[in-house]
Amino acid sequence: MPDSCEHIDAVTEVRQPERHECAECVKHGWQWMHLRTCQQCGITLCCDSSPHKHASAHAHAAHHPVIASAELGERWLYCFVDDAFAEY
Ligand SMILES: [Zn+2]
Ligand SMILES: [Zn+2]
Ligand SMILES: [Zn+2]
Repeated sequence: MPDSCEHIDAVTEVRQPERHECAECVKHGWQWMHLRTCQQCGITLCCDSSPHKHASAHAHAAHHPVIASAELGERWLYCFVDDAFAEY
């Protein structure tokens, strides 16, 4: 995987979303576009196209760099630190 990075390489089993909702937006009744699942702690949050961008906020605040798409039919990982992308 040429575009991968050490963080993505460290993911041996891709964590899937437990719920198809943003854990932060749902508390406030906010809307989101797409969902991403943190590969370190497994929380599912909204993408950067969503108004509140909870997944990237979580990645930076918690230092959990790698997310997976939580959208059906999408099989990819992304690292915020390296701006690296890999399909699986
Ligand atoms: Zn990385
Ligand atoms: Zn959100
Ligand atoms: Zn996390």
